[in-house]
Amino acid sequence: MRMWRPAKLPFPQQKGFIMAKITLPELPYAMDALSPHISKETLEFHYGKHHKTYVETLNKLIAGTEFENKSLEEIVKKSSGKIFNNAAQVWNHTFYWNSMAPKAGGEPDGVLGEAIEKKWGPFDTFKTEFGKVAADTFGSGWVWLVQTPDGGLDLKSTSNAQTPLTTADKPLLTCDVWEHAYYIDYRNKRPDYVGAFWNVVNWKFAAENMASGAADKAGIRKAS
Ligand code: MN
Repeated sequence: MRMWRPAKLPFPQQKGFIMAKITLPELPYAMDALSPHISKETLEFHYGKHHKTYVETLNKLIAGTEFENKSLEEIVKKSSGKIFNNAAQVWNHTFYWNSMAPKAGGEPDGVLGEAIEKKWGPFDTFKTEFGKVAADTFGSGWVWLVQTPDGGLDLKSTSNAQTPLTTADKPLLTCDVWEHAYYIDYRNKRPDYVGAFWNVVNWKFAAENMASGAADKAGIRKAS
């Protein structure tokens, strides 16, 4: 006679009970906080749907792979194909949300302001150059203010999900120029969106990234 046994419970280590490893970080401000420059509706779609979907897709793709227990940064640096695309988009978007803030904008001061002046001269020249890189980014991509290994600043354009995280450059600030970032508010007018970006640009975040970059270089602080 067959003995009765209790049904197996779905313990976490069993297949089919996969915990989400990568989470969607909270938006650092309210959905309507960047309005009218970036509308609530844009953030509801861009953060609430696009960013969220990259997180969900990534978790499905890494389940049962070598990337399952890795940090997001490690996945971005070591993966390729679909896993890279979704992981990098998760990382890039989080960096982008932090590149903006309510009641921000203006011009950077301190070490960052001096470095921008050293590279581009007047602040308006820097903005013009940033706008050119945005306009020249064909199709979907990102514009980045980076610190190069020699300590100077530069502007970089990346396509699709590509990110400076996989290069020797230290990202300081980014602007998402995928059409989904601006189509609701500015339709096809990418320059208008980039113009509005200056009203919410978070120089404090860029300055903090620059300071941590300098510390990393000097071996003071571990790179995160
Ligand atoms: Mn985007």
